[in-house]
Amino acid sequence: MQERPPVVFPVADGISAIDTFMGGRARYTAAYLLYATEPTLVETGPGTSVEPVAAALGTLGMTTDELAHIVLTHIHLDHAGGVGQLAARFPSATVWVHERGAPHLVDPSRLVASTARVWGEQEMRELFGPTQPVDRGRVRSLHDADVIRMGDRELRVLETPGHASHHVALVDSRTGAIFTGDALGIHVPDLPVLRPATPPPEFDLERYVDSIERIRAAARSVLLFAHFGPLPDVAATCDLAIHRVRDWAAVVEKALRETADPEELTARLEAAALADIDSGAEATLNLAMLEDRLRLLSSIKMNAQGLARYWQKRRKREEESLS
Ligand SMILES: [Zn+2]
Repeated sequence: MQERPPVVFPVADGISAIDTFMGGRARYTAAYLLYATEPTLVETGPGTSVEPVAAALGTLGMTTDELAHIVLTHIHLDHAGGVGQLAARFPSATVWVHERGAPHLVDPSRLVASTARVWGEQEMRELFGPTQPVDRGRVRSLHDADVIRMGDRELRVLETPGHASHHVALVDSRTGAIFTGDALGIHVPDLPVLRPATPPPEFDLERYVDSIERIRAAARSVLLFAHFGPLPDVAATCDLAIHRVRDWAAVVEKALRETADPEELTARLEAAALADIDSGAEATLNLAMLEDRLRLLSSIKMNAQGLARYWQKRRKREEESLS
């Protein structure tokens, strides 16, 4: 993989974003360093991000013994695949993740197998690289309202299921910034477009919307997306995220009345998603690159599958409660 100089940039008081160069790609996936008496890394990026993230931490002045915490919003490999290798390189860091995610950091084999089913072995390796386990003794489980103390600042945990049942967002005590993971979807800054992230098997529309409302209520400043970077307008961003996910859910619900064919569901959602980005103003941008980014971070096929599965589960629940 091509060597790149580290890319880091300040996003709030004492918080720097790090481009993790996931799969060698710029501006796809961010990690964040919080400066505190106990410095903390939020998200690691995948296994392909270990060298870029370690180099960026060096640029930001972190020595290997100094990093005290690594906190993950959820265990999907684009956010957490590099945690085993980074924990080995930063031996003083405690690793924090929701309690339902913790077993998968200690033994990532099921997580890797399910990712391979979605992406195929080859593309998974190219994007996410190797996924190493974390020593059980270094992992701490998170629950709603837990507080991670970093000395002179804290991170408060907000359970924000919807994208995944174990997803958390993290509120910084000093700035009121929130690390949103994938709770509001993904934002491609170069387009720009905000796109829902509704993967199977756990996507849940009601929980997704409730989680965005929790984030809206807790945010006192910027929203820090994993994909990619800061969004300062909390109200507009939350409104748009809710509007988009309801829209997409409605498209798939309507399509399911006529077909359950995954290709057809994907085609219907694709048409709706293209309308979201067809603003005309960005015609000069490199659309091929942006399409690649959207596909890799939030493929329409995966989103359509997640939405279809959600509606099928919900129908089943409703039928059972009637019978
Ligand atoms: Zn993600």
